[in-house]
Amino acid sequence: MNNFNYKALPWNIVFGVGSLQHLPSKLDDLGYNCALVLSTSQQADQGRMISELLDNRAAGLFSEAAMHVPMETVYKAEAEAKKVNADCTVSIGGGSTTGLSKALALRMGLPNIVIPTSYAGSEMTDIWGMTENGRKVTGRDDHVVPTLTIYDPELTLSMPAAFTGASGLNALAQAVVNVASADANPIVMMMALEAVRALSKGLQKLNNNPNDIEARSAALYGACLAGGSLGTGATSLHHRLCHTFGGTFNTPHAETHTILLPHCVAYNSAATKDGTRRLAEALDVENAGLGIFELAKTLGVVTALKDIGITESDLDRAAAIATEVPVKNPEPVSTKRVRKLLENAFYGLPPQ
Ligand code: NAD
Repeated sequence: MNNFNYKALPWNIVFGVGSLQHLPSKLDDLGYNCALVLSTSQQADQGRMISELLDNRAAGLFSEAAMHVPMETVYKAEAEAKKVNADCTVSIGGGSTTGLSKALALRMGLPNIVIPTSYAGSEMTDIWGMTENGRKVTGRDDHVVPTLTIYDPELTLSMPAAFTGASGLNALAQAVVNVASADANPIVMMMALEAVRALSKGLQKLNNNPNDIEARSAALYGACLAGGSLGTGATSLHHRLCHTFGGTFNTPHAETHTILLPHCVAYNSAATKDGTRRLAEALDVENAGLGIFELAKTLGVVTALKDIGITESDLDRAAAIATEVPVKNPEPVSTKRVRKLLENAFYGLPPQ
């Protein structure tokens, strides 16, 4: 057994089909009665539904949450929270809306009740992010971890098919890197392996029937545990590469994570033999990297960097930026080997 460190986060979770109905009584239990409801404009109807459910506990609706938590949105939401004298936020949506609730928790100390509707997993981490002048600043703080998270799988039935696949594989990535990882942490590993099992089974079933509520529950449960692995575990080369592409080339979050994942698993497989074997078992495949690549194909999720706006001439720059500062990774990282990995990912070839 390796030595390890494990720091728990203050999670408070209600999970189950129909659990949204507990929201008003949970708010009462927590002693809040003046909630600012948060959503994106695309989910404003769901925001209104939450306001109605909360009845006189809802003070207002702010439906302008946006990708990457722009500062101007944070300022507007803050002003609204002050205007209505909010004593908490109740957010409904994906990672972007949860991100706004975290920004308000950090800056104003507003308790946040989060109702996730995608598989982003942000509600299980202490990671916050805000974007100003095109630069995303991130940090970690226990205060941004939701006061309460309500997972109701029924709310994920409306996810479009392509979003289900990409968001689900993005969640899978959060878990996978903590199975085949440099500092295998047995507690995080347990969570991550269960996440991989639940997500891979759930997502494959959803591919055949997106309305299968048991499969929706499995995928959301998997996403919860995957987010937990991200919140309490380690990151490695995969994370560095995703940041490089997102930050420098503005590629979409979930797709970038999905495309690079099988290649990073293959890259680390010799250095993380035991983890990679356990990963393959959890995925119920022979070869973990290839299994993830094929799962992405089955789910119809994009598997090539060239299909998300990257050109071949970007690869040298990406490999150089990603390896500029040393990265903690089970397998030693060199610019040359990373360039080769990126070339495979660029063409959408099976991982090597
Ligand atoms: P998102 O929140 O931007 O949602 C994408 C779109 O889908 C939005 O328009 C949203 O309203 C809509 N949507 C969400 N759920 C829906 C549903 N059930 N039905 C119909 N439409 C729905 O995207 P995301 O993938 O959920 O989150 C990505 C963001 O989360 C990224 O910015 C990422 O950086 C962040 N994130 C943060 C952490 C963290 O720990 N801080 C972890 C994971 C992701």
